[in-house]
Amino acid sequence: MAPTRKNVAVIGAGVSGLAAAKVFKSQGHTVSVFERSHDLGGVWEPSRSYPGIQTQSPKDLYRYTDKAMPDAYPEWPSGAQVHHYLTAYAHDHGLKPLLQFNTQVETMDQRTDGAPGWSLTLKTENAAPRTENYDFVAVCTGQFSEKNILTHPGQEAFEAAGGQVLHSSEYTDESLVKDKDVVVLGFSKSATDIAVNAVHSGAKSVTIVYRESVWRIPYFVGGLINFKRILYIRKQENMFQGWRLTALDRLKYKLAAPFIWANWRALEALLSRQLKLGKTGLRPKQPIEDTVSCSVPIVTPGLFDLIAAGKIKTIQGTFTSYGPGTVTLSGGETLPADLAILAVGWKLGVPFLPDAYLNKLIEPDGQYRLYRIIANPDLPDMGFVGFNSSFCTVLSAEMAANWLVRYADGMLARQPTAEEMNANIEMMLEWKRTKRPAAQVYGGLCSAPFHFLHFDELLADIGAKQKKRNLLAENFAPPNAQAYGRFLSSAPRYRLQEPGSA
Ligand SMILES: Cc1cc2nc3c(=O)[nH]c(=O)nc-3n(C[C@H](O)[C@H](O)[C@H](O)COP(=O)(O)OP(=O)(O)OC[C@H]3O[C@@H](n4cnc5c(N)ncnc54)[C@H](O)[C@@H]3O)c2cc1C
Repeated sequence: MAPTRKNVAVIGAGVSGLAAAKVFKSQGHTVSVFERSHDLGGVWEPSRSYPGIQTQSPKDLYRYTDKAMPDAYPEWPSGAQVHHYLTAYAHDHGLKPLLQFNTQVETMDQRTDGAPGWSLTLKTENAAPRTENYDFVAVCTGQFSEKNILTHPGQEAFEAAGGQVLHSSEYTDESLVKDKDVVVLGFSKSATDIAVNAVHSGAKSVTIVYRESVWRIPYFVGGLINFKRILYIRKQENMFQGWRLTALDRLKYKLAAPFIWANWRALEALLSRQLKLGKTGLRPKQPIEDTVSCSVPIVTPGLFDLIAAGKIKTIQGTFTSYGPGTVTLSGGETLPADLAILAVGWKLGVPFLPDAYLNKLIEPDGQYRLYRIIANPDLPDMGFVGFNSSFCTVLSAEMAANWLVRYADGMLARQPTAEEMNANIEMMLEWKRTKRPAAQVYGGLCSAPFHFLHFDELLADIGAKQKKRNLLAENFAPPNAQAYGRFLSSAPRYRLQEPGSA
C-alpha cells in the first residue's frame, strides 16, 4: 500500500532543516519549519557569527547536491556568503513560506489523540504557547544550539571593574578588542579564529589558554595541496579501520599496517614542520590517526606564524578565577585581561524532549542511540537530520534527509525492523567504545572520517541503483555532491496517497 501524505514538523532552519524541508516537501508531504531565531541559517545566521568566520570545508564540499555555490565565491566562503547561499536555496525550493521564525519548540510529546506522531508546544514571542499535532518530526537542531556556559569565581568583580566575558558566538564586533588585553579560553577553530582576528583588530595582547594541543589541518598541506585532495578521498578513508570488517579486510589491514603507519608519521612530520609545532611546543601527544573526527580543526590562516612571532601567547591550563582586570590560571599565572572569550563550545542535547524519551535516545555515557545516525527504533515517527555531522555537513544532512523521508514512509529498500536497528546500534556503540574512541566525540554524532562508508550504507538502504563514480574518481577524488544527487535520483520513486483514501 502506498504511504500517505503526512503533516511533518521540521525543527530548526539551518543547513539541515532546509535539507529536510526540501526533501519532505518534494516527496509531497506537508511541511512546517519552526525556527526560534529571526532568520534561517543556524550557525551561519549573521548575528551568531564572529567576524572573519569562514567555512572549514571547501565550497564544493559544503553544498547541496542540486545547487553549487556561486563561481565568484572563494574556495572557503565567508559566513555571509554561506548565509546568502542558504537563503537562495530556500528561495529556489519554495521553502520560505514554510518557515515560521521566532518560534521555539518548547516540548515535544507523543500525541494524546491516539494517532501516531507528536504534539509540539510552540512558543512565539508575545503569545501564549500553542500546541500542534504532527504525524512526523524531523529534528534538525544541530550540535551548536545551546551554549556551554562556564563561570569562575570572581567574575562579578571582573565585570564590575569593566571586564567583559563572552561566549565565542557573542564575539560579533571586532571593535570590542581594540587596545584590550584579550584572553581566549579554548583551542578549537572558533578560539583560534577569534584570537587571530583579535590580533588583526588591534588588541593590546592576545593569549590562548588551552588544555591540550590537537592536530590541525592546514587549508593547503605542505603549503601546496588543498587538504581535500589528500584527506577527503576514499583511499585515505580506507586507512582507518571501519566497522563490520570481514576476515579478508582484517588480513588486508595487517599486511598494509607498516605502510599505513608510515603514511601517518609522514603527515605528522609534514604538519610539524609546516606549522612550526616543535618551535612553539604545540606538537600534540596523540598519534594523528587516533584523533581524526569532526573535532579536528582546520588551521586558521596565520595562526602559527602569530604564535611563533609571540603575537599570540599560548598557555596550557584553564581559568581558575577572575579578579578586577585579571584572569588567574590553573598553573598559577595571573594575566591582565579586559575581555575573556570563552570558546568552550556547545551543549549537546535535545532539550525539548522529555526525559522518558531522552533515556531511550542517549546512553548514560552520552552516546546517542541512532541507527545510521538518523533514527531510534524506540522513538517512532521522528528522526534526526544533520546529526551525522562530518567534514561535508551539507551533503551529509541532505543524504540523511533522503534516507529519513523513505524511512518515514516505510519505503527504504532495506526498511529495518526495530530488532535490526537495535542490533546495529549496539554493534556501532561497541565499535566506538572499543575500537575507535575518537568516534565518540559529540555523542558519537559524527560520520567523519568515514564519509564514504556512511554514504555507501545510506545509498544501499535507499535502494540507489548507482552508488559509485568511475574507479579513479571514486578512489582518488573527494565526495562529489552532484554525483550523490545522481545516485539519489537512481533510487526507486514512489507516490503518496491522500490520508483516508483507500
Ligand atoms: C563556526 C562554525 C564553522 C563551521 N564550519 C563547518 C564547515 O566548514 N564544514 C562543515 O561540514 N561543518 C561546519 N560547521 C558545522 C556546522 O554546524 C554544520 O556544517 C551545519 O551548519 C549545521 O547545521 P544544522 O542545521 O544541523 O545546525 P544549526 O546550524 O545549528 O541549526 C540549527 C537550528 O535549529 C534552531 N533551533 C534549535 N533549537 C530549536 C528549538 N527548540 N526550536 C526551534 N528552533 C531551534 C537553531 O536556532 C538553529 O537555527 C561549522 C560550525 C561552526 C559553529
